[in-house]
Amino acid sequence: MALIITDECINCDVCEPECPNGAISMGEEIYEIDPSKCTECVGHFDEPQCVVVCPVECIPLDPAHPDTRQQLLGKFFKLHPDKSPYLPDSDAAVAAKAPPVEGC
Ligand code: SF4
Ligand code: SF4
Repeated sequence: MALIITDECINCDVCEPECPNGAISMGEEIYEIDPSKCTECVGHFDEPQCVVVCPVECIPLDPAHPDTRQQLLGKFFKLHPDKSPYLPDSDAAVAAKAPPVEGC
């Protein structure tokens, strides 16, 4: 799922340089996230970096863009064809299309 910046944004400029995908830019009034580039930071970090730095907590998940983990990784590979993703164990399994482990 991509993230979205709400109108509570105070245009503090902190999140834009933190996005590893260049998905954040200034819109007409407040900063915006390009959902085609937002991977929830999957492939780069354990958690969304814009959410980590935002001082007013105005970056929720965007239900209009309900990507699966596999789709988020797909965006990563499209944006960074020459880069190896950082993958926690759960994402590595998704990337390999491995079946879910039973009995855990
Ligand atoms: Fe960029 Fe990550 Fe925020 Fe998405 S979650 S906009 S990829 S910093
Ligand atoms: Fe807006 Fe939060 Fe980004 Fe600051 S960090 S520009 S308040 S979305």
